[in-house]
Amino acid sequence: ERARLKLLKSARATTLDKVKIEMLANLDEPGEVNAALDVGAEGVGLLRTEFIFLGRGGMPSEEEQFEAYRKVVKGMDGRPVTIRTFDLGNDKHLDSPQMTIGRKHINPALGLRSIRLSLAEPKFFHAQLRAILRASKYGKARILIPMLSHEHQINQSLAAVEQAKASLRGERIAFDETIEIGGMIEVPAAALTASLFLRKLNFLSIGTNDLIQYTLAIDRSDEQVAHLYDPLHPAILRLLAYVIGSGNKAGVPVSICGELAGDPHMTRLLLGMGLRGFSMFPAHIPSVKQRIKQSDAGALAHSVRRILRLDETSKIREQVDRLNTESV
Ligand code: PEP
Ligand code: MG
Repeated sequence: ERARLKLLKSARATTLDKVKIEMLANLDEPGEVNAALDVGAEGVGLLRTEFIFLGRGGMPSEEEQFEAYRKVVKGMDGRPVTIRTFDLGNDKHLDSPQMTIGRKHINPALGLRSIRLSLAEPKFFHAQLRAILRASKYGKARILIPMLSHEHQINQSLAAVEQAKASLRGERIAFDETIEIGGMIEVPAAALTASLFLRKLNFLSIGTNDLIQYTLAIDRSDEQVAHLYDPLHPAILRLLAYVIGSGNKAGVPVSICGELAGDPHMTRLLLGMGLRGFSMFPAHIPSVKQRIKQSDAGALAHSVRRILRLDETSKIREQVDRLNTESV
């Protein structure tokens, strides 16, 4: 079994019909780099930067952030490391005396969270962007902006990156001038306007955890409605297929970094939608990779087109089960 896992680690995630799939890791803190490398991750598809607030009172300094991001970028040794800007508010709490706003919410999931909060606190956003840019000199970093919904948020985020770059140039501090900037698709409005995001950004990453929450109006953390949180709801499948298909048409990379990407029961469905980048907890990489190696992307595209026309979740579930039991 150990020998088999070792073999699987070095094997590339390629389908039976030779389609190459990118296998990326989600990291919640820098210490998880080794876990990602151990399972043969080709990069980090999502570094959640909220770890930096754990067990501390005030705001982390630029220096402190730089050190943490550099550790991951160096550790991944030239593989891409997608660093997501702070996704605070909602389920990730922030309690800083320096933070003037973003503390009291009536409905935190719909409030001043994530990029909304970063744009409302430009000094804090600037320090984080400078820290990421400085770390980019030590390998391959990418910037990922969470929770985007409006065009002006994309524009303001891009302008903030330009401003951080200009300040570093002014101080003659080196960074990767060609750093890529991507956006998360986790609000239905963003999914439905994917073409705008694809024109303005270098890559997209679909956050299915939030996309499902906002599309079905189900609080991710509320047990009383947890049974309604259904990734196979036809509305979810259509949004995913739309974003993935639009990205493929535009030639812009799209990956999924929500929990769905790490669920082997979803792998064939996602491959059939055209997904070519999967980012997940390192521990899930071997089983999803194995699934990919047993699948035919071309045949799946055909079957999944039929599934996407179904309206009843019970029928969708039946068809997805069938996909998973067929030999290819
Ligand atoms: C998501 O929403 O799917 C996601 C990856 O972000 P998080 O789980 O950190 O909100
Ligand atoms: Mg999210």
